[in-house]
Amino acid sequence: MLVIFHPDASAPEIDAVVNRILATGAGAQRVVGAEQTVIGVIDGDRDHLASLELDADPGVDRVVPVSSPYKLAHRHRHGDLPHAVQVGGVAFGGPDAEFRMILGPCAVESPEQMLAAADACLAAGADLLRGGAFKPRTSPYAFQGLGVDGLKILAEARERTGLPVVTELTDLRDIDAVVEYADCVQVGARNMQHFPLLTELGRAGLPVLLKRGMGASIDDFLLAAEYILTEGNPRVVLCERGIHAKATPARSCLDLAAVTVLKEHTHLPVIVDPSHAAGRRALVEPLALAAAACGADGLIVECHPNPSQARCDGPQAITLDTLGDFTTRIRRVAQAAAA
Ligand code: PEP
Ligand code: MN
Repeated sequence: MLVIFHPDASAPEIDAVVNRILATGAGAQRVVGAEQTVIGVIDGDRDHLASLELDADPGVDRVVPVSSPYKLAHRHRHGDLPHAVQVGGVAFGGPDAEFRMILGPCAVESPEQMLAAADACLAAGADLLRGGAFKPRTSPYAFQGLGVDGLKILAEARERTGLPVVTELTDLRDIDAVVEYADCVQVGARNMQHFPLLTELGRAGLPVLLKRGMGASIDDFLLAAEYILTEGNPRVVLCERGIHAKATPARSCLDLAAVTVLKEHTHLPVIVDPSHAAGRRALVEPLALAAAACGADGLIVECHPNPSQARCDGPQAITLDTLGDFTTRIRRVAQAAAA
């Protein structure tokens, strides 16, 4: 941590701050510049030092953290290399990562809808199947998902296709049911900082697909992952799905810079959801191609047998007849990017 003083900070103000730092047991290295003094804090306890709130002390201009606030999610944890995460026998990320595709409808609506989608996803080369049984909806009047019945249909789709399934958990009360049926549990953007949910999923031990909150910084995102990791569950896959930005013409603004920045900071795999960022079908493929080109470890994409009749997110769903060509074009770009 660096403490940077105002140019007009007095010597007693600077001494007072140094004394507060030393009292925590940390070291303090003073650098006196032509205009400003800077204190480098050495070997301190991060939380203890943060609790001092030194940026409010007289004479202090600002405090700049230097060490990472997340420990287990940090790349250093695995020798500064990406590290693979196994999801239902499928490896995501790691040094020789294959590009992964999670495909399926937004919501499980019926056995016919889910199984038709599952067959098409398998034929298109999906690695995992998605389908929401518990849907986080903006309106309480919108379709909320089939609940446990939806989980059972998802399990039937897995049985039929052999594909592992990922589904969202929105409420701690449903954790046992979701863990019973799912191969991977999705935490949605709206729940990225639902800390009790993250902690329980850390304890449950199933792989977690953690989506970035729409207003979350990279530090917030990785600290959310840290909640799962600290409980002893190392299997976390991160997902960039678009952030709030009033000026974007899409539903959310897909932040592809975040993919690169995340990979600079963490060993965890990073996939991209172009569907929720796009909000409409015509934007899904361009965003998916861009994600494949920029080094994402995979995609999660929504599709539907009859998008105009979908109970959730129909406008952004890819039709099943185009799914095979879509995945072929994406894989071509992913291979070129990896070459
Ligand atoms: C979803 O994947 O269906 C979903 C609701 O995603 P997000 O949490 O990213 O909005
Ligand atoms: Mn959706």
